[in-house]
Amino acid sequence: MARIDLNNIRHAYMAAPKGDDDFALKRVHHTFDDGGAYALLGPSGCGKTTLLNIMSGLLRPTEGEILFDGRDVTGLSTEERNIAQVFQFPVVYDTMSVRDNLAFPLRNRGVAAGEIERRVNEILEMIGLADRAGQKARGLTADDKQKIALGRGLVRSDVSAILFDEPLTVIDPHMKWVLRSQLKELHRRFAFTMVYVTHDQTEALTFADQVVVMNEGEIVQIGTPEELFERPNHTFVGYFIGSPGMNVIPVRVEGAAAHIGAHRVALPGIAALDGAARTELGVRPEYVRIGAEGIPVRIDRVEDTGRRKIVRAALDGRIIAAVMPEDMTVPAEPHVTFDPAGINLYANSWRVDLAQPGRGAGA
Ligand code: ADP
Ligand code: MG
Repeated sequence: MARIDLNNIRHAYMAAPKGDDDFALKRVHHTFDDGGAYALLGPSGCGKTTLLNIMSGLLRPTEGEILFDGRDVTGLSTEERNIAQVFQFPVVYDTMSVRDNLAFPLRNRGVAAGEIERRVNEILEMIGLADRAGQKARGLTADDKQKIALGRGLVRSDVSAILFDEPLTVIDPHMKWVLRSQLKELHRRFAFTMVYVTHDQTEALTFADQVVVMNEGEIVQIGTPEELFERPNHTFVGYFIGSPGMNVIPVRVEGAAAHIGAHRVALPGIAALDGAARTELGVRPEYVRIGAEGIPVRIDRVEDTGRRKIVRAALDGRIIAAVMPEDMTVPAEPHVTFDPAGINLYANSWRVDLAQPGRGAGA
């Protein structure tokens, strides 16, 4: 397994890129630690596949370099980089049996027959195809073929990294869950460096120790699921992660207070802001309290999800979401307050650190 450094990577699919808009990847500078389980998470078109293909060597970046354990591999092929990659749609040898499809990468590398047998049987069990090992891949469904492709990605234990590009797209929902748990288990056992691309936050948050959130060709935050939830660096992360996403409310900031129209919200610290910044408060629905005190709101809609209620309330002309325990009722004259632990401030969409009063810079 390898540590992978991406140094100032930029990529444009067009011949003579000029402005930032011409780049599918605007600037990526990041290290994937040896043995880490990462997810690349972001909406469709944000550059996930582009970045993965640059790591595997299918694509050469317009600018920047890729290092594996400190060695420059920018000009090397996938094979030379010793990468296993699993794609969104199955790539299998139709005329080979399921077993031979799995054994192929091992035979290619001259692995001993006994070891091949052992590994292949283990993978067959894992992907649930042991009873069809002798069948030709040709007759199988797309779902089963994808399991073979996944198995082929996992069969070798000597790869630098295993890269997955939305590998469970064609797999049925129950099996998705099973395979995802098995991937996690394999990571625990073998400490592979794994990078898993997905646009699905549930998949990313359950699989990865570190989630790399991308938007419009850039990494906007790298963190544990908890960090992304509690301290979104960018309003995009707050909005994209969580269900419902973070409330983002335009505010006017004065010292340790934010003003929403005529209402004042105390901030848990003081922000050093440049007066020109566009400022917003970010509060996750889990930190919005509905009660008899605070800022008056009008209830728009209440969704009962069983375990909790999701309340949509109009605050100063804008709908915000709040989460309430199932057994609580909305008061007749509803008001909201924000739990200070869940208050984040954003300037031009990026999170601002709030200094504790009396403990400012230099103190
Ligand atoms: P994702 O995997 O996150 O959906 P991609 O990396 O596939 O995103 O695409 C990023 C951007 O690059 C998109 O705007 C997409 O249209 C563009 N793009 C992807 N592949 C090509 C290509 N082969 N030629 C030109 N543009 C491409
Ligand atoms: Mg993609």
